[in-house]
Amino acid sequence: MKRTSRNSHKPVCLSSTALCYFAFMELKRDLAIVLRSVPFEDRHRVVTAITENHGQISALARNAIQSRRFGGTLELFAAAEWTFADKQGAELCGLRDAVIRRSFEGIRADFDCLSLASVLSELMLKVAPQRTSAPELFRLHSNSLAVLEERGADLRILNTYLAKLLQWNGTQPRLQACSGCAIPLDQVEEGAELTCLVASAGWLCSKCRRDGLAHVQGGSDTGFQQAQIRLAPLGILDFQVSVALPIRQASRAAQAGRKDQLDLFRFLEALLAYHLPGLDRQPLKALRFLGIESSLSPQPENPPRNRPLRS
Ligand SMILES: [Zn+2]
Repeated sequence: MKRTSRNSHKPVCLSSTALCYFAFMELKRDLAIVLRSVPFEDRHRVVTAITENHGQISALARNAIQSRRFGGTLELFAAAEWTFADKQGAELCGLRDAVIRRSFEGIRADFDCLSLASVLSELMLKVAPQRTSAPELFRLHSNSLAVLEERGADLRILNTYLAKLLQWNGTQPRLQACSGCAIPLDQVEEGAELTCLVASAGWLCSKCRRDGLAHVQGGSDTGFQQAQIRLAPLGILDFQVSVALPIRQASRAAQAGRKDQLDLFRFLEALLAYHLPGLDRQPLKALRFLGIESSLSPQPENPPRNRPLRS
């Protein structure tokens, strides 16, 4: 992260250690939405948030547990204006003050909304860059929570969120036509079953699948059971709508039914895990509360290649 040096003059009454501390500490303000909040020791909390201008940050909120000095601003999903001290090289910022902007308590009050919002938080924790501005991710998260609180839990919100993450990443799925014979989507019969291609981010019509064009899929990663992901044309259409419209309109305009939405989710999840660099391929933990089956196979927590060699 780029940093600007603010003070060229130095106080003369402080020790050299203190001088060093203050020279590299900045007080900052930003809008933040809580993604995770965990107790630290007996009295403090470590809160991780997506912010409007600093990407993902984690901050130590001192005495947050007993004194309640931060009110409801550290609750999951709460949006607040944070004032925090950022010290160069330190893992945690120090949260000084937080003023609530929107509590999103309606989300925490409903189990399905809470579960879906937890999936969104989990995704953002995996995807958002640390201390690097990503305002479009902040807006996506903030708008999604607003739609969720207003309309209730709906799988279309989650699918639109995933499609927009892919868009943010620059992954451009080729969805207009079959990757084998190039028949346009609008000429595929409504009841057809399309085969999703994760590696090449496209689809095959049923004729091309029968003709054995499976090699178009490319890759042989067993973590993605891509041959199992089949999708109706309406699901692909919803995907296109999700990419083209803001989340509020997109989640309303989606037409696919529950089953097709579930299939679309599994395709989007696999695309994201495959195409987003650095993303781990673990299934999202909160999915089980929504009764959604992941397209990803659980990976070993410590892959063998990362284990230290035995001497
Ligand atoms: Zn085809």
